[in-house]
Amino acid sequence: MSGRLVVLAGPTAVGKGTVCRWVMEQHPEVWVSVSATTRQPRPGEVDGSTYHFVDPERFSAMVEEGEMLEHAVVHGVHSYGTPRGPVEEALGSGRPALLEIDLQGARQVRESMPEALFVFLAPPSWDELVRRLVGRGTEGPEERERRLETARTEMAARDWFDVTVVNETVEQAGRDLVDLILDPPPVPAER
Ligand code: 5GP
Repeated sequence: MSGRLVVLAGPTAVGKGTVCRWVMEQHPEVWVSVSATTRQPRPGEVDGSTYHFVDPERFSAMVEEGEMLEHAVVHGVHSYGTPRGPVEEALGSGRPALLEIDLQGARQVRESMPEALFVFLAPPSWDELVRRLVGRGTEGPEERERRLETARTEMAARDWFDVTVVNETVEQAGRDLVDLILDPPPVPAER
């Protein structure tokens, strides 16, 4: 495989999806993975493009057949996973590949693909993260609390990553991320 794999993770509502969309639009040479999930589509989300929306039976079958590069239950409710085949295909054709996944998934990818670069997308501050989560209004109070709980754990894992990008604005974070994807620093010898 010749392309470089970059794994982006970070707490809920930090803007991972928005930054990845910016990269897709501005840099079509970067291949961005489409995950599978068992959660329901939100308004405006497109099957096959935002996610592959699958039922739990199909998801389990994909896992059992070894089709997932990594998979996890995120925020304690729904399953999410990265289909392996398309990632291998992109890397095999020499394209840089970007995965946007949670911390549990990132840890699994580091086991199987230690040569990947792991990037943490951080909010400018904790208060700003809470503001973004409340502001987007896609979760009710209960779901929001659950996501903030996961976010606390994820913020504490920042040092596990090779590099941190702070998401002040979408353009700035997108540019910083693309610089890392197109001109990646060497993977640290010691992790
Ligand atoms: P949402 O439901 O808001 O779209 O995503 C919830 C969380 O699932 C986010 O933290 C996102 O990073 C994570 N996620 C999305 N796709 C994947 C995936 O393929 N694998 C893993 N492990 N997490 C994912």
